[in-house]
Amino acid sequence: MNIDEFKNEVEKLGIIVTEEEINKLERYCELLKEWNEKINLTTITDKKQVFLKHFYDSLTIVKMIDLNKVDSLCDLGTGAGFPGIVLKIFFPNLNLTLVDALNKRINFLEIVINELYLKNVTLIHDRAEEYGKNNRECFDVITARALSSFPILLEYGIPLLKVNGHLIAMRGLNDSNDGINALKTLDSKIINVLEFELPFEKSQRTLIDVIKLGKTSMKYPRRYAEIKKKSL
Ligand code: SAH
Repeated sequence: MNIDEFKNEVEKLGIIVTEEEINKLERYCELLKEWNEKINLTTITDKKQVFLKHFYDSLTIVKMIDLNKVDSLCDLGTGAGFPGIVLKIFFPNLNLTLVDALNKRINFLEIVINELYLKNVTLIHDRAEEYGKNNRECFDVITARALSSFPILLEYGIPLLKVNGHLIAMRGLNDSNDGINALKTLDSKIINVLEFELPFEKSQRTLIDVIKLGKTSMKYPRRYAEIKKKSL
């Protein structure tokens, strides 16, 4: 999608796009291209594709939740910053934490944050399940796009969430039924599932909104070896 198409589609999501936001996205897109030649960040680098499949796609989360009312948001397995950085550009009120297991991606994000003058962003180089051992019940919202299977994502994310907080999983096909057992074990429930197609492309997207009902047992998250052996 070109810039005008982007603005148009984002306005349909209820967000007015300013010139400053477009400038930041253009710079972000350049950095992505430049650094992608040195480190593997994404397979998508064509500008129109980046605006559709990374920037617009990240913003679709507002179909689920009003981010103006959110304080702390943690994006797990953020990769090159999706959806976390894009959300921060449009919702500067967010206290954002970005977690990724690969240090080179975290180093890239540090450059993005400085170049775009983003404030109140914390970068964590760690595996989500390790970070979740010592950072319990501290975020209002957890996001994760294209990270692991749904039950594994729940085990990573729910321990980090405050009780009554929301985990919003951004997925391709709807695999929410795979989480039935994990949701029970982690005292959480799905309160909304939204299926839609990306504009232009027509590929399927699913947003799953999970609310945490009670405190998580210290047993979770387990170590990765155990999670992999048998997910919840
Ligand atoms: N959310 C981004 C990246 C998805 S790819 C996007 O949608 O474009 C998955 C990312 O999660 C990779 O960057 C990988 O390094 C990271 N990752 C995988 N397992 C992880 C774990 N257990 N903890 C933290 N990051 C993880």
